[in-house]
Amino acid sequence: MTAGLYIHIPFCRSKCPYCHFYSTTETGWTARFIDALDREMGACRRRFRAFDTIYIGGGTPSLLTGADIESILGAARRHFLIAGDAETTVEVNPADADGAWFSKLRALGVNRIHLGAQSFSPAALRFLGRRHTVLDVHEAATLIRRAGFENFGLDLIWGLPGQSLADWRRELDAALSLEPAHLSVYRLSAEPGTPFRRRLRRGEFSLPGEASSLELFLTADDSLGRAGFLHYEVSSYARRPEFVSRHNSKYWRHIPYLGLGPSAHSFQDGQRWWNRRNLDEYVTALEEGRLPVAGRETLGRDELRLETLFLGLRTAAGVDLSSFHRRFGEDLRETRKDILDGLIADALLILEGDRLKPTVRGMATADRIATLL
Ligand code: SF4
Repeated sequence: MTAGLYIHIPFCRSKCPYCHFYSTTETGWTARFIDALDREMGACRRRFRAFDTIYIGGGTPSLLTGADIESILGAARRHFLIAGDAETTVEVNPADADGAWFSKLRALGVNRIHLGAQSFSPAALRFLGRRHTVLDVHEAATLIRRAGFENFGLDLIWGLPGQSLADWRRELDAALSLEPAHLSVYRLSAEPGTPFRRRLRRGEFSLPGEASSLELFLTADDSLGRAGFLHYEVSSYARRPEFVSRHNSKYWRHIPYLGLGPSAHSFQDGQRWWNRRNLDEYVTALEEGRLPVAGRETLGRDELRLETLFLGLRTAAGVDLSSFHRRFGEDLRETRKDILDGLIADALLILEGDRLKPTVRGMATADRIATLL
């Protein structure tokens, strides 16, 4: 199983109040950051040799110039074996869309663009503190297509305060009108340490409860399913099987991945480690010849077992019970028979041959189901 390479670009023009990803608005560090990335790749090449997916995310990769992206991809190809048909994704903020930039990326071998649209409602974009407009999203989609990208995805956020099912359907219809190959629909959450969380605690707004959230989740499944999209993971929809994210699928299947850049996480051989969540510390460590690793953990059998269930049940493919048996020495059909029968009777899971698959409602509660098993 070939590993995936994730590269975290730690720059944003401004900080969205709900966001918990690491980034800084100090974009003057770009040259030192790219040099540090090159050093980090060099330091990791003994542990990782080959990749067949590259995902440049962040932060805001579209703040980098085409020449910056060329340097990063060039370094990756110099240090590692990158498959000729590697799925190579770059995340883009609609406010940064530029036709020449997209053409340059295409010439560099980038074959997948992910556009952070988030919403098609001006009021929602203001609430989310986004720096782009609805018009920016439409213009970006046009430029992405004109540059020749067929595999182009959109991010949408649902579960905004007071969002009705009709509001959400309108958002989904607006997204579908752009004919994306992929849609990622994320539930808005108030993550610890964010301004958004503090405002929620002060009672400035409230988020939909569990029952309303489930209805919104089912509405997306219904609307996008009618439009022919495959709901292949809790938050992920693909217009056709070839548009399923090969990179993200590695995270859900415990396939090794290397994360580079501040705050990036890596996984290999049951070990997980993560980088410093500070650009200065990250760059300084690499300039001094040290790895910028902030912490690591080795997952024991029970943790890997739980993660396998939790991650597998988030996907439509579910969990292969035979390989689970081989890997953990446990046949869930025997050890958890009563619980499984109950979850199947409640229409949360289905058993298809050797595969334990979630229904749509099961997907929505995959984390809770996994803890029962
Ligand atoms: S949501 Fe995206 S653009 Fe906004 S702060 Fe987070 S990484 Fe930056």
